Amino acid sequence: MINSHHLEIMKIYEDIRTKEQDSLRKRRAEIEAKLPEVIEIESTIGKLCIQMSLNALRNLESREEYLREVKENITTLRMEKSELLVSHGYSMDYLELKYHCSKCKDTGFLGKEKCTCYKQKLVKIYYTNSDLSSLLQKNNFDNFNLNYYSSINNGPERFSPRENIENIVSKAWGFIKNFNTSDENLLFYGNSGTGKTFLSHCIAKELLDKGYFVVYKTSEDLIKSLKEIKFNGNLELEEHLINCDLLIIDDLGTEMSSDFSKTELFNLLNGKLLKGKKMLVSTNYALDGLTTMYSERITSRLIGNFDLFKFYGNDIRLQKKMA
Ligand SMILES: [Zn+2]
Repeated sequence: MINSHHLEIMKIYEDIRTKEQDSLRKRRAEIEAKLPEVIEIESTIGKLCIQMSLNALRNLESREEYLREVKENITTLRMEKSELLVSHGYSMDYLELKYHCSKCKDTGFLGKEKCTCYKQKLVKIYYTNSDLSSLLQKNNFDNFNLNYYSSINNGPERFSPRENIENIVSKAWGFIKNFNTSDENLLFYGNSGTGKTFLSHCIAKELLDKGYFVVYKTSEDLIKSLKEIKFNGNLELEEHLINCDLLIIDDLGTEMSSDFSKTELFNLLNGKLLKGKKMLVSTNYALDGLTTMYSERITSRLIGNFDLFKFYGNDIRLQKKMA
């Protein structure tokens, strides 16, 4: 999926460049009509530049001095041009080509490397084409309702569900804010209906909006993808899962458990940890339940390399139904 968007992205850059060249043409025509002297200065500068480059090759005796003189002339003319523009209410760069990204000059590349703006475009296309996009219109921080979490603490926990979720939400914001600099992974666990999936969607939306490449999979989908990679050699999908900025695995433990799923899941977790690629895993299982379900290898990876957050409180789905 990633590579198939390449042409689409290159077309976006082409359109940006065409549009900006058109606007520049219009701005020039405007100045030509209103301030023809500016255009004259520009053409004089152009001529001087050509002269300079021609004479730079010639073996004039006083070449150094000549070049310095021409350069000074050009500088003076440029200043005059700027002054004219500014004194007539135009910006100094009114006759310059504008770039949406000054780093790559709207080409998408810095040498052979892709520019960050390329990645942002890729994420946007990927995101618009994914099921996640419609989901995230509802499931985002604006709609995160803390009132589903009781402030009364009548359970065995140290904090009330409300205090607990407030703490988790603030940690989630920290995770988003420090996404680039920390190597934190998150594990959300606890009963169903306590907001784990919802919060992972909120986090996904914030990061996607910031231009990070987030892949969201239920664990069942993930196992399907791993089979596709293993048995059909789907390299693009593999690249997706391994190299995305954040892989969200939702509902770990609901997939059909098999030796294949356990082995491949471990390989994926391990591979991502080694590469320092981040994950957010949610599960309805308690930690000891995970150990029973998966091998010690997987569980110790999860517990050792993830920040653990326990979700608890009354079932939100039930509360919504009752309301
Ligand atoms: Zn760029």
